[in-house]
Amino acid sequence: MHMHIGGKDMLPEADRWLAVLNPATGGEIDRVPDGTPGEVNQAVAAAEEAFGPWSSRTARERGMVLYRAAGLVRERLQELARGLTMEQGKPLRDATDEVRGFANILEFYAGASAGMQGEFISLGGAGDAVVVHEPIGVCGAIIPWNMPAIIMGWKVAPALLCGNTMVYKPASQAPLTSLRLTAILEEAGLPPGALNVVTGRGEVVGEAIVRHPGIQKISFTGDVETGQRVQALAAGSRKEITLELGGSDPMIVWKDANLEKAVAGAIRGRFYNAGQTCTAVKRLYVHQAIGKEFIARLKAQVQGMAVGDGLLPGVEMGPLSGAPQLDRITRIMAEVKAHGEGGIFTGGSPVPGPGYGPGFFFPPTLVTDPLPESVLLREEVFGPVLPVMCIPDLETAISHANETRYGLGASVWTRDLLVAREVFSRVRAGIVWVNRHLTVPPEIPFGGLKSSGNGRENGLQALQAYTRTRTLFLG
Ligand code: NAD
Repeated sequence: MHMHIGGKDMLPEADRWLAVLNPATGGEIDRVPDGTPGEVNQAVAAAEEAFGPWSSRTARERGMVLYRAAGLVRERLQELARGLTMEQGKPLRDATDEVRGFANILEFYAGASAGMQGEFISLGGAGDAVVVHEPIGVCGAIIPWNMPAIIMGWKVAPALLCGNTMVYKPASQAPLTSLRLTAILEEAGLPPGALNVVTGRGEVVGEAIVRHPGIQKISFTGDVETGQRVQALAAGSRKEITLELGGSDPMIVWKDANLEKAVAGAIRGRFYNAGQTCTAVKRLYVHQAIGKEFIARLKAQVQGMAVGDGLLPGVEMGPLSGAPQLDRITRIMAEVKAHGEGGIFTGGSPVPGPGYGPGFFFPPTLVTDPLPESVLLREEVFGPVLPVMCIPDLETAISHANETRYGLGASVWTRDLLVAREVFSRVRAGIVWVNRHLTVPPEIPFGGLKSSGNGRENGLQALQAYTRTRTLFLG
């Protein structure tokens, strides 16, 4: 596919391309331009030109474009989901949910247009004030490969609804869904230049977007270290920056939890998307009174998981996103084994075999009682490895939960409201779920504490993130 600038599909300036691989087979399914800073300049120029006409439409008109696009996405759900599975690897059922999630986000923001109003403040004898929320201008968005449709929705829908235009960079591993969804938004009435997609490498296209003086705001989702680089590059430019970075979410299972639901929540929470989700359950703390039974149930379910090409019926977990991810997880597990940490169940190395195919597969893996200094407990492990620890009391669970530099999400599984409140008030995370993990519907604000980022996406709060407040004081 081509990149998309000013409403046109563009060939690369220099005839350089990046291959897009199917992670289940390792085979090339398409290629996209290896973009340049020159192409970022063209995209910014197109977004600047589109800004005037787009921002002068009413919020209702902009919302209608999102709403129509959501309808088209729903009509083409199966085709889009198949494309997502082929470039990203998640099972078709999950890809379908993700694409549907993109439509849900568009519809939520279309509805939110009704609330996009200013304020009137009477100041008595001093006069009156009118507060307006204006679009920021050209915004830059940079996204990872793990959930291309959802993260695109989180950025593009509120930005466009507020009247901004955008230069958008998908990850080079999974750029195709972004290009298809952009075409659908234009078919639904988005004017050319309002959303420009420049494909390419992070250190070239990503950095050119972050540095560009014509871009007023950057919304970045990705790794903590890349986020720090983005922040450093933008320092001194007065750009507004939203950073949605990594996580190492703890899941605490209290002794009164519904075991069946908690086991299912841990399986889904860790192994959805082959463990490559920012808010995946990355550390599991189970009360020791139920530890033995919980781990036995967990082990049985993990061993029974159907792993394979996400296009095949019944597959519950697909491959990792590519060779770099597979190498990383293989290295981490080799380290864990070399340290002789705890018990390792159901694998710990890539297992080619029935149902696995030639792609980048790693089996779902449990590690019970890893060493306290284990990389599994300290860093974000972006793959299907779940460390499980038994804890004697809530104090210990909370103190472990807060032990990493991350603060994205956390969950507690209990029927006891006081336990739930205690976890919410003391575990430092942007979101704390009770008897749930992972789910982030469009209505709720989302973002991290500590190294997991700053700023919020999703929910009505995102409208603040994509507008600037100005005041007219009538004396
Ligand atoms: P990454 O940081 O390697 O890449 C993310 C994006 O940044 C890609 O488009 C990449 O090309 C671009 N990029 C790379 N170097 C850049 C640079 N120097 N300047 C500008 N852009 C650059 O992350 P990834 O491996 O694609 O994604 C996985 C990470 O994303 C994990 O840490 C995960 O937790 C995080 N994530 C966070 C959220 C969230 O909302 N908090 C959601 C999904 C994923």
